[in-house]
Amino acid sequence: EHYLKRIEQLDPALNSFITVTPELALQQAKAADARIAAGDADPLTGIPLAHKDVFCTQGVRTSCGSKMLDNFIAPYESTVTAKLQAAGTVCLGKTNMDEFAMGSSTESSFYGPTRNPWNTDHVPGGSSGGSASAVAARLCAGATGTDTGGSIRQPAGFTALTGLKPTYGRVSRWGMIAYASSLDQGGPMARTAEDCALMLQAMAGFDAKDSTSVDEPVANYSASLNDSLKGLRIGLPKEYFAGGLDAATASAIDEAVKQFQALGAEVKEISLPNAQLAIPAYYVIAPAEASSNLSRFDGVRFGYRCDNPADLTDLYKRSRAEGFGAEVKRRIMVGAYALSAGYYDAYYLKAQKIRRLIKNDFMAAYQDVDVILCPTSPTPAFRIGEKIDDPVSLYLTDIYTITANLAGVPGVALPAGFANGLPLGMQLLGPYFSEARLLNIAHQYQ
Ligand code: GLN
Repeated sequence: EHYLKRIEQLDPALNSFITVTPELALQQAKAADARIAAGDADPLTGIPLAHKDVFCTQGVRTSCGSKMLDNFIAPYESTVTAKLQAAGTVCLGKTNMDEFAMGSSTESSFYGPTRNPWNTDHVPGGSSGGSASAVAARLCAGATGTDTGGSIRQPAGFTALTGLKPTYGRVSRWGMIAYASSLDQGGPMARTAEDCALMLQAMAGFDAKDSTSVDEPVANYSASLNDSLKGLRIGLPKEYFAGGLDAATASAIDEAVKQFQALGAEVKEISLPNAQLAIPAYYVIAPAEASSNLSRFDGVRFGYRCDNPADLTDLYKRSRAEGFGAEVKRRIMVGAYALSAGYYDAYYLKAQKIRRLIKNDFMAAYQDVDVILCPTSPTPAFRIGEKIDDPVSLYLTDIYTITANLAGVPGVALPAGFANGLPLGMQLLGPYFSEARLLNIAHQYQ
């Protein structure tokens, strides 16, 4: 009731929720009370969460931020939300996001932009900006997000939260509406690493319903939070500090380095030589996969359908033309072009080769260091509308986040301080399945 009241009072100014589910929340809260009274509680029982509107939630509208799915009531529950529900969490509602998770500012949503609670003239980041804003404004205790190219870590950085992108395959993608299937990964966004550990514990694990889910034992993420950082080897990729990085973020990271050293870590420079190729490779691979995934939205089986179609072709064409927004159409066109006969080798295949080189860079770096420390974005949160007319300038802000998705490695974003009232973000990237270590390091950092 406390959180529902806050949502009612504060969310009109933030627009972090697309759908609020008060009846469901109160019903789940009652069930949680009963479970606690019966002595059968999980650490998360009764904790009120919000879910990014990319996760299918049975009986609740699941829009993915799009007019295409504005009328879509999911007939089944995603694995992530089902697991959190089984732990006894309470669902307060579904959060705003860039349409089909395509964006870095939550401005491409059909439901209008979300505002950053630290300064409402600024974006909360994206695409999981609704989740970030809701947690930062204390409209929920934690939220789910998805990270295809930074969409958990960058908004966490813009709103002073901790957010974790797990290793690709650690968290099931079943029931998570697909953007770029080889990159998409769900994860927690919360106030602290401790909270993220509890959420990840419930979310992670093998799922036979997702063919890319990895059958690897799930660590106890809370057990190692207080481990010492003595002897930890941290690498700073020199390419990431070379230029284009805002001065306040650079000096916040200098400060963080000093703190990590004081905690017993050794810090050294490393190289990710192909990092500068990440944006062009990502913006070929992600749209290519998106153009294929989004072909299912044809106006026939579910979602938006145009009025009075003249014939089947007209139905397909107008349903898609009217149902998708500009950024989604741009990605479908880029992706279909990159996959088409004659261009496939020049663009898609080339991008896949770059992806392998980037992965190799990470594997080589992890021979020398345990984790990599770098910013989450080149600047703090920018103003709403600032980049809206220049999509490429928005793509360029993903420079620090998308390499981890291309390589499939996990990353945790954590607060690095403030400049002019706006949060600064940094992230730690680790080897495959190092989530427990990443959360331990984030927890030790004050
Ligand atoms: N900004 C990136 C994109 O638009 C990443 C989005 C995401 O991680 N979902 O593709």
